[in-house]
Amino acid sequence: MDAPRLPRIGVVKLASCDGCQLTLLDLEDELLAIGERFELVEFPEASSRRSTGPYDILLVEGSVSTPEQAEHIVELRARAKRLVTIGACATAGGIQALRNWADEPTWRASVYPSPDDVRSLATATPVSEHVAVDAELPGCPIDGRQLLELLTAFRVGRRPQLPDEAVCMECKRLGRVCVLVAEGTPCLGPVTQTGCGALCPGYARGCYACFGPKQAPNVDGLSRWLAIERSTPEVDRLFAGFTGYAPAFRDSTERAVAAMQPPARRRRRSNGEAG
Ligand code: SF4
Ligand code: SF4
Repeated sequence: MDAPRLPRIGVVKLASCDGCQLTLLDLEDELLAIGERFELVEFPEASSRRSTGPYDILLVEGSVSTPEQAEHIVELRARAKRLVTIGACATAGGIQALRNWADEPTWRASVYPSPDDVRSLATATPVSEHVAVDAELPGCPIDGRQLLELLTAFRVGRRPQLPDEAVCMECKRLGRVCVLVAEGTPCLGPVTQTGCGALCPGYARGCYACFGPKQAPNVDGLSRWLAIERSTPEVDRLFAGFTGYAPAFRDSTERAVAAMQPPARRRRRSNGEAG
């Protein structure tokens, strides 16, 4: 009797640093088990085996930042039964989404010696703004345990049990000293989804919101509280990071980016003029 067909997995990237794909490779103790339960048909980071699909599960890393990627993600979607976005770039646009409020020709000319050779979109956007997404794993990078839970759930046909609580909850369970209360260090943990093991508070630093907003985050409440001891632009700037384009953080990021523009440009923007 033929062995049952294993689910076919693909791992692909758009605009990203590959860090989330490395999380999969870092699952050293579980990699063999994954290989026994899935057929890894496309994963250029790890294997020369290539496949254009169809895929039972397609893990997509990275934001949509070029015209080619905008077309490619639509093609990939058509070849994937389940499409899962992995990481802050794919789920929230990533750090590169900060350019969404900047003047594209200006930043391009300031970064690249031959700006005309660079073909990029004016914006870097999450995959879900382009195609339907079946599941999202946040984080910069993602958490290996959450990836395993997602793959296991798909394999056995149940709903993934992914946490939805603030980093503060994990911080408390781990017995960490609260850097916000004890040191006055700004921390986005109260509005950020857990998954990192409260890594930064463990090193006496505030949370940078790598995992993006938790469900129903009280961003205004935290911002008001943080603004008691610091200026509003300073508080807004805290959100303008890896997940600054996530809808719940977007207003703060927009204000932060606007405050950083030269005065003449700010005036033009407030008058509704382009550039
Ligand atoms: S989310 Fe972070 S680790 Fe993952 S690809 Fe983007 S920048 Fe790299
Ligand atoms: S250090 Fe940050 S994440 Fe930890 S309990 Fe305090 S506010 Fe929450």
